[in-house]
Amino acid sequence: MPRSLKLLSILWVLSSANAVFAQSRDISAPECLQSLVRAYPDALLHATSDSLYWRNGAVMPFGRLTLPSALGDVSTEEWERFLSQATLRDQMAQCYKHDDSATAPLRHNDPGRIRFEPFFRMMYGATENEVRQNLVPVRWLKNLPNAASTLMVTRINGVNTKLQAVSDELERLPKEFHPYIIQPAGTFKWRVIAGTERLSNHSFAAAIDINLRFTDYWRWDLNKSDRYPFKNRIPMAIVHIFEKHGFIWGGRWYHYDTMHFEYRPELLAKECECED
Ligand SMILES: [Zn+2]
Repeated sequence: MPRSLKLLSILWVLSSANAVFAQSRDISAPECLQSLVRAYPDALLHATSDSLYWRNGAVMPFGRLTLPSALGDVSTEEWERFLSQATLRDQMAQCYKHDDSATAPLRHNDPGRIRFEPFFRMMYGATENEVRQNLVPVRWLKNLPNAASTLMVTRINGVNTKLQAVSDELERLPKEFHPYIIQPAGTFKWRVIAGTERLSNHSFAAAIDINLRFTDYWRWDLNKSDRYPFKNRIPMAIVHIFEKHGFIWGGRWYHYDTMHFEYRPELLAKECECED
């Protein structure tokens, strides 16, 4: 190999190693666990490095960190197994990279897709009936003729007012953005994630899928190579509005689901951002 090429490849390895570090920063450090309390002040009281204290008196241990260390070597099957047993500490183990562009996430970087289900059941309701008791309407695109609709979401954590604020900003975007946001595919539905036994965040009425016509979803590209090259057609102007109001985007996941947004303000906290 010519020397210059060798130097270039060394530089490439160095910079990609750095990128792995940048995206997989462990945000389960004690100061980042506090971001949970700041994100959900109505529900949470206090966090120590071991446990999360709820206003209702519950104490929820963070548990061990079980996130696999060499994510590049982990198969999708192993990753799905990890997701089904993730601890509350694991839920906070990957930082959410909310940069300006839609960049391809590194293998198994799924910040926000790692969920400790008892946390969401405690927050939004343990059963479909309990979640239903807090459903309230949001007037989606209320000022766009022919596009307005009513969506039911939870009022817990003010998700309804946050989603209303998203809608009010989205409808002011230029006309070329409208096709993406009209006819949203859904908010509340008590159901498991396709191909798993894990409850979808839609079960807790704190998520929205925008127009199905423009979505890309990793599971539609299942293949023998077990690699899922990133795809996206959703304009970043839309993503930025959701993120501004506390919703993370499924297009920041290696297992991309680009029509999906869910209310997870803890992952957008400034102090827990990825290191660049
Ligand atoms: Zn969704």
